[in-house]
Amino acid sequence: MINIGILNLQGDVQEHLEATLNAAGKMGIECEISKVKTAGEVSKCHGLIISGGESTVIGKLVKEEGIDQVIKEQKIAVLGTCAGMVLLGNKTDYQQPLLGLIDMQVKRNGFGNQRLSFERQIEIFGEKFPGIFIRAPYVSAVGDGAEVLSQIDDKIVAVQKGKYLAMAFHPELTQDTRIHEYFIKEVINCVE
Ligand code: GLN
Repeated sequence: MINIGILNLQGDVQEHLEATLNAAGKMGIECEISKVKTAGEVSKCHGLIISGGESTVIGKLVKEEGIDQVIKEQKIAVLGTCAGMVLLGNKTDYQQPLLGLIDMQVKRNGFGNQRLSFERQIEIFGEKFPGIFIRAPYVSAVGDGAEVLSQIDDKIVAVQKGKYLAMAFHPELTQDTRIHEYFIKEVINCVE
């Protein structure tokens, strides 16, 4: 049975849990979906979702718990949204711990502060998605093997590198579960 964990250190964890449960329900897939916060719990996951929140806080706790090692050693698929996108990258303009799973330069708070949060329709794989951007990062450059899935003007807002998926926006804050469905499919592909 596929096991997907929602990293429960800080941020909008419950929203991701509900979105993932809804996505699996729509797909008619039986999988174990739960909040996880220790290296031991993460090690049982095939896929891990890192929510929005504060990337500095989540990154520090991930290192302290040794969760970064587990993700890398066990080659766990990861969906990172907003702060999660920052953590998936290997370069930011801040001094902060990163997972460095995707070679990309991330501009933290790239769209401005909380008051400059906005909603915008974005396009991924030729389909339109509702994008909620809250103190969102963007990616200014990607390295080898990283595929740009979506951008707003010259700002990259969705990137995939194999089993790693980074979104600058918050799919978990909408009723649209297609991003979570896509991630579940990717996790299944990795396990098979
Ligand atoms: N700007 C935050 C950070 O870099 C992310 C904001 C969010 O996740 N909504 O941690």
